[in-house]
Amino acid sequence: MSEGLPIVRTVGQLRDFVMHQRAAGKRIGLVPTMGALHHGHLSLVDAVAEKADCVIVSIFVNPTQFGENEDLAAYPRDEQADVAKLSATNTALVYAPTVNEMYPDGDATVVHVGGISSRHEGAHRPGHFEGVATVVTKLLLQCLPDIAIFGEKDFQQLAVIRQFVRDLSVPVEIIGGPIIREPDGLAASSRNVYLTEKERKVAAQFNLILKKLVETVKAGTSIHQAEQSAKNALLQAGFLAVDYVSVVNPVDLEPVTTFEQSARVIAVARIGKVRLLDNMSIEVP
Ligand code: AMP
Repeated sequence: MSEGLPIVRTVGQLRDFVMHQRAAGKRIGLVPTMGALHHGHLSLVDAVAEKADCVIVSIFVNPTQFGENEDLAAYPRDEQADVAKLSATNTALVYAPTVNEMYPDGDATVVHVGGISSRHEGAHRPGHFEGVATVVTKLLLQCLPDIAIFGEKDFQQLAVIRQFVRDLSVPVEIIGGPIIREPDGLAASSRNVYLTEKERKVAAQFNLILKKLVETVKAGTSIHQAEQSAKNALLQAGFLAVDYVSVVNPVDLEPVTTFEQSARVIAVARIGKVRLLDNMSIEVP
């Protein structure tokens, strides 16, 4: 362990730390991240610190959740800056394992979550949710926290995690943290650094277009028409492509065609090298 905020890199060190904290009666909270931390991540630390006495933040760029043509090699990494940011929070320990610690030689087990993983992000990024479910299962079993938090920014990911935690009876409470946005409304993301200045301006339209969809659905426009209008508006605003804009049931993420109960619009649009994700709730008035 280094001076200041301790960092551990092995399951054994993590377990030792957790065992001592638990023996002291502490409730353990875990915040899984891939680093390149921003205020969205830090909000999760603050939120879980309200429900746990000892907050552990994991930093691990998980190779198995990246597709072959995705940005694994280019993904922003700056552990020193991350640890400096976490030092100003209630974080008690950083767990930053190596790829070999997480996937030792001979590793052969994956966690596949049926149903909810197949649509939306699952359809556009084959294998992505297997990578996510596998690494989150490993992190939960390595740390055995009482509570773990995930951002609503990745709304489908949160739903997939809730599903396997329930299915596998993993003894942990899962909570979601609200989406943290930049002043112009763009959801904070580690990948926003890939945007050029011009693309960044276009990106700011994303949440405005989704807000408009929410208002029109509430005002009685058909869901199909509202989705189409949002897709057109995104392309007109300068996005290169729209992977999906879909109004869904917020629990199982099945598309809904009529607005009878609270729903969620989830969307992905591409600009430059980036796929931007966003989502919003559509509450019944
Ligand atoms: P990542 O490092 O991108 O894997 O994200 C780690 C955690 O932070 C995930 O649970 C994300 O959903 C969450 N997160 C990322 N961006 C935001 C944001 N803008 N607001 C809230 N949570 C976020």
